[in-house]
Amino acid sequence: MADGKTDLVVIGGGIMGLWTALYAARAGLEVLLVERTTIGAGASGGLLGALMPHMPDRWNDKKQFQLDALVSLEHEIRAMEAQTGLSAGYRRTGRLIPLAKPHLRAIALRQVGDADINWQSGSGGFPWRVLDAAPDGLFSPDAVAEGAVFDGLAARVSPRGLLRLLTATLATMRGVTIREQCAVRGIDPQRGQVVLSDGSVVHAGHIVLAAGVDSFPMIDGLPKVVGGAPRPASGTGVKGQAARLAVDLDPGLPILYSDGVYVIAHDAGGVAIGSTSEVEYADPLATDQRLDGLLAKAETLVPALAGAPILERWAGLRPRAVGRDPMAGVHPDHPRLHLMTGGFKISFGIAHRLARAVVEGLGGRPTDPEGAMTLPASFRCENHLGAPSRA
Ligand SMILES: Cc1cc2nc3c(=O)[nH]c(=O)nc-3n(C[C@H](O)[C@H](O)[C@H](O)COP(=O)(O)OP(=O)(O)OC[C@H]3O[C@@H](n4cnc5c(N)ncnc54)[C@H](O)[C@@H]3O)c2cc1C
Repeated sequence: MADGKTDLVVIGGGIMGLWTALYAARAGLEVLLVERTTIGAGASGGLLGALMPHMPDRWNDKKQFQLDALVSLEHEIRAMEAQTGLSAGYRRTGRLIPLAKPHLRAIALRQVGDADINWQSGSGGFPWRVLDAAPDGLFSPDAVAEGAVFDGLAARVSPRGLLRLLTATLATMRGVTIREQCAVRGIDPQRGQVVLSDGSVVHAGHIVLAAGVDSFPMIDGLPKVVGGAPRPASGTGVKGQAARLAVDLDPGLPILYSDGVYVIAHDAGGVAIGSTSEVEYADPLATDQRLDGLLAKAETLVPALAGAPILERWAGLRPRAVGRDPMAGVHPDHPRLHLMTGGFKISFGIAHRLARAVVEGLGGRPTDPEGAMTLPASFRCENHLGAPSRA
């Protein structure tokens, strides 16, 4: 393949890369998105798609950022669905959280006041209701001994459906090229060069690294700035396993969530069960007895799942940045390199807002009449990697 030139190379065809390409194209940039294998081959191509808000108490700028992102995502998705005729399987179903113990009910009741303030629950915002009893027959009686919380902000989306929708939307936009089966072999952020697996070189005004967990070795392998401070290892992968079961649950049902177990009925059929969280693993993409354990836990919580045939077992690696929050924006040493990773467990709800901020950082101007997108300070790369070096 011949060498080329473009405004922006986006590395990675997951949720982070696709939203970045979309915002860049909207800003009028010429974009090349390169994906090592196929769109959604990484963590984004999973089964769950929970869009879960943080708890309404102990409010901070991160929670506000996520709330604004969750609210704006629906509009983004509906606009693309109207344009393409595709469905992302999005629905604001809300979430039911069973309360098994009196102290959990006491906490949930305290959070009613927090939700009133931070979610505007009492004045047209999103409900946070403490129910005396959960809807009949959903949960095992022990799980709901003290009732349940209904949160009306949570939503869900089909991860693969959203990736298809973004890809189809990008296909209608000027200046966007997507190359699958095209790995990046190296980057030279000083010169704005990206070396592809076929040996060709793309010269780019900017590079956005959105390669999920593979972003981290690429960041750690960047040339050090002369006289620059040593940087910490940028992040790691946390394995997750999930499954999809053939069981007849109403897709309008809220997400059922308890103690790390999600039960999510999807529009296209099937119920997703997630997820394990593993910092130690032998094979990052294999499913094993930990998934069996999770399924047993889910059956105990929701008896209707018992004995349901398993349609798919799936595992992936969540990118967790060193600072634990998402890592987005310009690299402290390399003004032409922008990072877009570390979304860990919440990428699907916030990737569009991160993308907007990153793209605004390329051009130095807002992409929206409502003004520039500000990221919480802890998301910025220097808060993960350290301050810019003074070379
Ligand atoms: C079991 C499980 C359940 C989850 N549930 C949820 C959930 O309910 N809600 C939620 O918001 N999040 C969830 N997550 C987390 C979410 O899936 C991830 O945070 C998100 O998908 C990360 O997206 P990404 O674009 O950063 O990375 P990825 O989706 O991994 O994309 C990175 C892409 O880069 C490509 N790539 C890598 N190296 C190169 C290279 N050298 N050249 C070119 N391309 C390259 C890869 O092939 C890959 O396609 C879950 C994760 C797991 C594992």
